[in-house]
Amino acid sequence: MTTQFPAAQLYIDGAFGPASSGRTADVVEKATGAVIGTYALGGAADVEQAVAAARAAQPGWAALSAPERAAGLRRMAEFLQAHHSELVEQSMRETGGVRAKAEDEVSTGIRQLHISMIQASESAGDLLPPYKAGKLSMSRAVPLGVIGVITPWNYPVNLAMRAVAPALAFGNTVVLKPAELTPIIGGQVLAEAARAAELPAGVLNVVTGDGHEAGYALAEHTGLNLLDFTGSREVGLAIAASAAATLRPIRLELGGNNAFLVLDDTDIDLAASCAMVASLEYQGQTCISAGRHIVDRAVADHYLDAITRRAAALQVGDPMSGTADLGPLVSARQRDRVHAIVEASVDMGAEVLTGGTYDGLFYRPTVLAKVTPEMPAFTEEIFGPVLPVTVVGDQDEAVAVANGLPMLMTSVFSADLIRGLSVAELLDAGEVHVNDAHARHGADDQMAGFTKRQWIGVQRTPLTVPAWTADPATR
Ligand code: NAD
Repeated sequence: MTTQFPAAQLYIDGAFGPASSGRTADVVEKATGAVIGTYALGGAADVEQAVAAARAAQPGWAALSAPERAAGLRRMAEFLQAHHSELVEQSMRETGGVRAKAEDEVSTGIRQLHISMIQASESAGDLLPPYKAGKLSMSRAVPLGVIGVITPWNYPVNLAMRAVAPALAFGNTVVLKPAELTPIIGGQVLAEAARAAELPAGVLNVVTGDGHEAGYALAEHTGLNLLDFTGSREVGLAIAASAAATLRPIRLELGGNNAFLVLDDTDIDLAASCAMVASLEYQGQTCISAGRHIVDRAVADHYLDAITRRAAALQVGDPMSGTADLGPLVSARQRDRVHAIVEASVDMGAEVLTGGTYDGLFYRPTVLAKVTPEMPAFTEEIFGPVLPVTVVGDQDEAVAVANGLPMLMTSVFSADLIRGLSVAELLDAGEVHVNDAHARHGADDQMAGFTKRQWIGVQRTPLTVPAWTADPATR
């Protein structure tokens, strides 16, 4: 794949070309450190050209019929589908995720294109009650204009597509800046899909580059009608502060610190298996990873034993080996951050029951006991394969402790489904699972964002958990 797709090329106004600076950087396979490609280091001048191209293309794109735009999206989806297995391997190498994660990422990206094809043709507006007799009142859905999209490295295909596909479907044009750790799968490949789909020049532009150059230039650009940013809270805060100064419209999808509640009547085997998914899938580098396990004292010892035995039995290694349950962390910076949080928490009294060590970027799944709400393992979004466990006295305390920090997702476990649902209603998160982990339901649009709408997923028995999460004694 890396030889098939244009290397170190931006995609602006329907043409591949180098960055105006001529500079490039290496793309590295996360598990091996091997250089597997290059990307162009775009900057302010390239962003300027891309926004101008998107601006020029937008009226023509919006003037096409919805089925014509939908056909463009369908051709993009067909291109990605035709290259599905290559894309999965590219994602495995660039993100360091195992095959199941990469398959999910690529398939969800394609599904997003399918959803948006239909959205485009579904509704063009509403007929409204007239405000006065003899009048006809309507509202019409109109495109915003040019959308800037900045994406992170963890799920580069579907996190790009969940913004790019609906934006294009409704007649907007896009400038996409993918993360520098995943510029091929998150950017160059999508540019190639747009070219193969024969989208008109300027409709989708891709400017690869670093956050402080290409990303900053796009976020600061006054020619956008909306900036859609997915990434860290730190960068989101900086973008929000700057956008406020000139009232530039932005939409932010940031991180959180998600909780996993284990009540006193929980089926511990089920909760422990789900905890593996919730905290360890993609090495915990997911915005909806469970970062705080809040456990009733009555079941704490049993739960700690069950998650420790499971975590200790997991294989960490190169995803391409086919035998690894967990791959590498995405970068040395990320690993050092995770380890610093673990060490600082241990200094404050937390206890490592398994893990807490690493080899290169391969961080062992780590269970931390005796975590209190003052410790960084509790207060920080760890974004690594760590399960910090905090013991509480009862359900009320569990809810209060969970709600103290911003959450995208929570899980609550109880043998009593009605009790689980009642607790779910008390949790302040965009997505709540009852007796289940995140990513085991296909909820689209589940994040806290435009509305306070809460999505509640309930696992009905019997639950089949993935083999790698089962008790090692029964494997
Ligand atoms: P990040 O904020 O470091 O980078 C995200 C993107 O922003 C990258 O493309 C980067 O190049 C760019 N960027 C960096 N500095 C910038 C700047 N000054 N101006 C403009 N752009 C800049 O985040 P990350 O490390 O790539 O991703 C991890 C974070 O993303 C976590 O906090 C995670 O929770 C969050 N995330 C949230 C969601 C969600 O849907 N809410 C999904 C995935 C990841």
